[in-house]
Amino acid sequence: MTESRLFDRRSFLIAAGAAGLAGTHARAQANFPSRPITLIVPFAAGGSTDIVARLVGQKMGEILGQSVVIENRAGAGGNIGSTAVARAQADGYTLLLGTISTHALNPAILKTVTFDAVKDFTPISLLAIVPNVMVVHPDFPAKTVKEVLEVLKANPGKYSYASSGVGTPLHLSGELFKSLGGVQMNHVPYRGAGPALNDVVAGAVPIMFDNLPSSAGFIRNGQLRAIGVTTKARVSSFPDLPTIAEGGLAGYETYTWNALFGPANMPRPIVEKINQAANQALKDETVKKKLNDVSADIVGSTPEQLGEHVKVELAKWAPIAKASGAVVE
Ligand code: GLU
Repeated sequence: MTESRLFDRRSFLIAAGAAGLAGTHARAQANFPSRPITLIVPFAAGGSTDIVARLVGQKMGEILGQSVVIENRAGAGGNIGSTAVARAQADGYTLLLGTISTHALNPAILKTVTFDAVKDFTPISLLAIVPNVMVVHPDFPAKTVKEVLEVLKANPGKYSYASSGVGTPLHLSGELFKSLGGVQMNHVPYRGAGPALNDVVAGAVPIMFDNLPSSAGFIRNGQLRAIGVTTKARVSSFPDLPTIAEGGLAGYETYTWNALFGPANMPRPIVEKINQAANQALKDETVKKKLNDVSADIVGSTPEQLGEHVKVELAKWAPIAKASGAVVE
C-alpha cells in the first residue's frame, strides 16, 4: 500500500468512525430517555426543594415514560449537590433542582463555591417562584414582627433562628431581618429546611425562616406560628398574614425559586424534551393545585428565559447579601 493510499484509508476510517459516533449520538438523543433520570435535590428531604422535586419529577416521569429518581445530596447551602451535577455527564440523565441558593446566593455569600452558576450548567426551565415565611415555635412570646423585634431587642443574643444552611434565602432572610431591625439572633444552619423544621417544631430552636411550601402544613395545624411572609405583597394562601415589610421593616423582601438545570453543553434535543416534560407537568391539575395551595408562582419558562433569570438574580442579590452581613468573609 502506498503512503497516500494508506493515508486515504486512515482518513476514511476516521471519517466513518466519526459518522458512526454521530449516528449513535443521534439515536441516543432520539430515544431519550431510555433509562431512569436522576434528579439531584441539593437539600435534605422535607424542605420545599424536595417537595417541589417530588411533585414535578413524578409527573415528568409519567410524561417521559421513565422514572425520575430523586437523590438528596444535601450540604453547604446546596453547593454539594450542584457541584455533583456540574461535573456529571451532559446526557440528560443527571439533573439538578436548583434554587435561588445554588444559582444566585451561594456565589454571593459563600467564600468558596466549586461551580460557576452560569458556565457550568445548561438552564432548562424555571419552574416556580416561591414565598418565604418567618415562623416561631408557639411558645415564643411574640405574635407580630413588632413584638418579635421588641423581644429580640430586650434580649440581645439570647435567641437563635434556624435556616436551610449558609448561603440560602432563609439565611439571608434572617440576616436581613437582623440588619433592618437592628437586632441580634444567632444563626443555626441545617442541611436543608427539613431537618431545621424538625428542631423548630420540637422547640429546640425558637425562630425559623422557611420556604412557605414546607411550613404551610405546620402553620395550618398550629405547630408553628407564622409572623410574616417575606415577599413584597401578601400571599393568597395566607391572606391575613402580613408581609415583614408591612410589619415594620420597610424594603424587606426575599423569596426562593426552583428551576431545572443540567450540566453545561447538553444536546439541544434533550434539553427541549426535558423542558417540554417539565412545563407540561406544571400544567397538570394536581401539580397546579398543590403549588397554588402554598402560593408558589408557577412559571414554566424556556431555557433562554431561565438563563437570563439567573444572570438578573446574580446581579440583584450580591449587593443585598453584602449589605445584610450574610456574606462569609
Ligand atoms: N428550599 C431549600 C430547602 O429545601 C431551602 C433554600 C432554598 O430555597 O434555596 O431546604
